[in-house]
Amino acid sequence: SKHARLDRFISARKGIPRRSVKHLLAQRRVRIDGDIAADANHRIGPFTRVEVDGDILQNLRPRYLMMNKPAGVVSATRDSRHTTVLDLIPEEGRDTDLHIAGRLDFNSTGLLLLTNDGRFSRWLCDADSGVIKRYRVTLRDPVTADMVTVFAKGMHFGFEDIVTRPARLTPLASDGTHQADVALSEGRYHQIKRMFGRFNNEVLALHRYAIGPFELDDALAPGQSKAIAPQLPAQWS
Ligand code: URA
Repeated sequence: SKHARLDRFISARKGIPRRSVKHLLAQRRVRIDGDIAADANHRIGPFTRVEVDGDILQNLRPRYLMMNKPAGVVSATRDSRHTTVLDLIPEEGRDTDLHIAGRLDFNSTGLLLLTNDGRFSRWLCDADSGVIKRYRVTLRDPVTADMVTVFAKGMHFGFEDIVTRPARLTPLASDGTHQADVALSEGRYHQIKRMFGRFNNEVLALHRYAIGPFELDDALAPGQSKAIAPQLPAQWS
């Protein structure tokens, strides 16, 4: 779904050489988003509508969904044993091209974004974008000042051989609290559990309530989802 040149796109889709596409363009037989196309170099995105002689080669609607993920379902589009988050979407809206922009573990709950827009999900998940994911955690043992310091500094993950990016750990009460907020700009495998695991603490519950500008709608019961406006980064328009 990368942006392709118009002539390459039509050539591949129709199985004709590019010089034949030039003829089609010259004969005004190609339409892009409804308008006659003339430029073979025109860039085709995944949601650009392309027609040749009225034959629709591509016409995909961008979709963005927010879900309140319940515990006990898999963040996958397919699973042979467990219910997946896609199974929870009402059938009429369950397009097969939807994917998950940032998974949550089986027992984690809260905000999950689903889309068919690869650029959008890459932006959300790329740590360099600086999109902050916010979680509420419940721990077996109290939060300590030491944890706050180490989360902010970053810790080495031997398996991936990376150092975690600065993360903000905010205890919800002053002393002996078992609840905290965690803000991360990346999403490593089991990241929060592993970070607390380093202190021999255990995450008992993990709930994501925000991803960048998207906040979980409190009106969504666990398992429910709704369409959202994408709020794409300003530099894309
Ligand atoms: N970190 C985890 O350990 N689990 C999640 O589901 C999300 C972040």
